Amino acid sequence: MKSPLLFSLRNPGIIVVSTAVLFSCTSSPLGRRQLMVMPDSKMNEMGVQSFEEMKKATPIETNPEINAYVKCVALPITREAGDATGVSSWEIVVFKDKTANAFALPGGKIGVHTGMLPVAKTPGQLAAVLGHEVGHVIAKHGNERVSEGMITQGLASVAAISVKDPKYQSLVMAGLGIGAQYGIALPHSRTQESEADLIGLDLMARSGFDPRESVGLWQNMSAASGGNAPPQFLSTHPSNETRISALQSHIPEALTKYEAAQKAGKAPHCVKPAGL
Ligand SMILES: [Zn+2]
Repeated sequence: MKSPLLFSLRNPGIIVVSTAVLFSCTSSPLGRRQLMVMPDSKMNEMGVQSFEEMKKATPIETNPEINAYVKCVALPITREAGDATGVSSWEIVVFKDKTANAFALPGGKIGVHTGMLPVAKTPGQLAAVLGHEVGHVIAKHGNERVSEGMITQGLASVAAISVKDPKYQSLVMAGLGIGAQYGIALPHSRTQESEADLIGLDLMARSGFDPRESVGLWQNMSAASGGNAPPQFLSTHPSNETRISALQSHIPEALTKYEAAQKAGKAPHCVKPAGL
């Protein structure tokens, strides 16, 4: 939609009204109302730009078996995700990084660290990770967080914001949840985490991955943290029994979708390379 906000920046009184209008007409895939002031196109631009910078800064895994495996799991998830943010094709890159982390960005970008593969032990568990991350994107959680930051900073210039402008870079990186390596990561809110869990569960089931594997993933993540030094993924994705029991309560519904997907011939056969 065209934002009335862009025409009312000179009058703070109108900004409040406009924000309320936007607030009332936007909702997440699970029906939660969201406050978002950034156009999808701008978020996609930021995601693409940030991803390009990460590709320059982090070594990329070129092993064809590893790449084929990760794409085998990721592509069915992205197909089910649809193009809610105006993106119909996704780029999937495996980064050589020992931390157990994965992320997805607006603009159709997915990054998986090699360190995630020993923790997400099966294709289904990796599908749970990627479903969760893609869930953050299609629910536009980055837009929510950047919008909150913009509003906190007085809505300086939503229209003019550029990811290349250093003034906004930290806000954007933090809002997209990819600032950990720059020391500026913002944790997702509990609401966003729960939402991404349930969207991820739905995506993996509809893709033909057994949704029960999601529980094993979070248990592995918790075990991998071993107490002192939690994996990077966990540091922004708090794992707890509440999360696992919330997933478990939605598994019967997800199993119905999983069975329907299998009947429709959706049964990804992804082979994890030996030694990972
Ligand atoms: Zn998350």
